[in-house]
Amino acid sequence: MLLASTALILATLAGYAALCTVSPFAVCRTCSGTGLRNTRRRSMKLCRRCKGRRYRLRTGRRLFHTGQHIHQAGTRHTADRDQEFPA
Ligand SMILES: [Zn+2]
Repeated sequence: MLLASTALILATLAGYAALCTVSPFAVCRTCSGTGLRNTRRRSMKLCRRCKGRRYRLRTGRRLFHTGQHIHQAGTRHTADRDQEFPA
């Protein structure tokens, strides 16, 4: 039972990681992808959550970027690395 539930959790996490890799952006949940929000005065304003861009970064992708930044901040910067990955 424990092994089956662990396998199910790992499969779910692997699926979500694959989804975040293939499609890092998702439709904004606040404005449903319109980029606009209704106000009480029947006027339209840009969605505050996505700032009118209609898409949001998935939570898993945001966690991945945070991990990358932490790793980059904690890694010694050398000249060899710049030659390996030219910008
Ligand atoms: Zn939005």
